[in-house]
Amino acid sequence: EGVIEPLPIRRLQESLINRIAAGEIIHRPASALKELLENCLDAGATSIRVTVKDGGLKLLQIQDNGCGIRRADLPILAERFTTSKLSTFSDLTRITTYGFRGEALASMSHVAHLSVVTKTKTETCAWKAHYLDGVLVAPKPGQTVEPKPCAGNDGTTIIIEDLFYNTPTRLSALRSPSEEYARILDVITKYAVHNPKVAFAGSPLPDLSTSSSSETSHAIRLLYGHSIAKDLLHSTFSSKKQDEAMEEESEVDDRESWKAEAHFTNANYQSKKMIFLLFINHRLVESSRMKRALEAVYSGVLPKGASPFIYLSLQINPRDVDVNVHPTKKEVHFLNEDGITDQISDTLQQALASQSHSRVFEYQT
Ligand code: ADP
Ligand code: MG
Repeated sequence: EGVIEPLPIRRLQESLINRIAAGEIIHRPASALKELLENCLDAGATSIRVTVKDGGLKLLQIQDNGCGIRRADLPILAERFTTSKLSTFSDLTRITTYGFRGEALASMSHVAHLSVVTKTKTETCAWKAHYLDGVLVAPKPGQTVEPKPCAGNDGTTIIIEDLFYNTPTRLSALRSPSEEYARILDVITKYAVHNPKVAFAGSPLPDLSTSSSSETSHAIRLLYGHSIAKDLLHSTFSSKKQDEAMEEESEVDDRESWKAEAHFTNANYQSKKMIFLLFINHRLVESSRMKRALEAVYSGVLPKGASPFIYLSLQINPRDVDVNVHPTKKEVHFLNEDGITDQISDTLQQALASQSHSRVFEYQT
């Protein structure tokens, strides 16, 4: 009793390893959708159309008019760690694309049925391919695994069907398609606000049809409604180096430079729940520190229990953010986080106090 006999250590099966790894990247339909959206934006799409069935569990389809995928690359598209975005380690410090790990499509192929229709500008037709567990498969038994030529527009359509069909515990943890649908809608809406020049559309996503020429404030009005838009303040602000001498002295000042843009409701607007859109270097992220700081600012302005809408886009030197984080690590940390958070809080505080509609702030550090 109490004595444990050592069992032999065995190597896990490759397919099991891949499925476990995939589950860590793709938690739910909305996390798959976020990866797919980011791929569209990386591909330079100006138009993105999303189709969702059963909260994305039955079908998640996303069509873009971006650069497309070359026919020659299709055989390795869904392999793990295949990417067109990164080739050397030093690339990591100046990466400007969302993706770089080459794991998203691979992961999806391990927990769903993945199909791709894609066409580059130079190709004369589109190509359709099906994937399972990282490799090309035949759409039907007896057919070839080779991509098939077909009609199609320039750009890429990714089709994810029967998500988590082979991981029943994951599937049962996601009880309600309507909850998953709400999360999908939330991700698309936030990216649509952050990318007002990209036209988003979809079904059944009736109120997402932003046009490709709009401004952030216009996108907020369209997506979050007039009651927020009419009480919105706007600030752009930055941290600037004080003088040349300091710049020479050390790298630190250079590192501290950042800029931000915020659209946030004034004291007239009150919501039950805070709506907070935070983008750092164009990535949708979470920062509980920033959120708490901004909540504190508004607690001096709004009655108890009332919350604001805040869209904050922060740009910092890529060197100062650790991009080499796990794709699901939404909570980010960056250099001089406390200082930047304080300055942003101060700016919002001042703007709220004066209720001005548009101001430009510059900080001397
Ligand atoms: P990553 O984005 O990290 O490179 P992914 O698995 O998301 O990895 O995608 C793998 C590769 O497939 C990308 O590097 C890109 O070349 C290609 N790709 C994926 N989605 C698209 C798309 N919508 N348009 C063009 N290329 C795409
Ligand atoms: Mg990607």
